[in-house]
Amino acid sequence: MTKKKPTPTPKPRTAPPPKPPCEVEGCGRPAYSGGLCQTHHRRRKLGLPLEPIRPYRKRSPDTTKFAGLRLSPLCVDRIKRRAEKRGLSYGAAIADILERWYEEGARPVPPAPNGSGARKRRR
Ligand SMILES: [Zn+2]
Repeated sequence: MTKKKPTPTPKPRTAPPPKPPCEVEGCGRPAYSGGLCQTHHRRRKLGLPLEPIRPYRKRSPDTTKFAGLRLSPLCVDRIKRRAEKRGLSYGAAIADILERWYEEGARPVPPAPNGSGARKRRR
């Protein structure tokens, strides 16, 4: 006769508490060690001044990592289509898109006509 051990009650899944921000004024990155973000922690270890670094841009929840970048589904779709159409790697397609955009005067890109993957904003 086998007697089953009582299964332990699973711990409720809770999100980890939010990390306090880095102590360097205006940094805004989450603290990593000693009250500093990873970059400022590394700078302290290297004896470098704890000066402001590039502004922290939080990840947008509707982006995915693609070719080492965080991109919207619309961008990913355009890069894949360009790569396929011209037989390029994704990196080469990105460079192609940027070079063409720059040659055209680097003006803001109009939204996609069908709005696929783009944020829909109606007024
Ligand atoms: Zn910092």
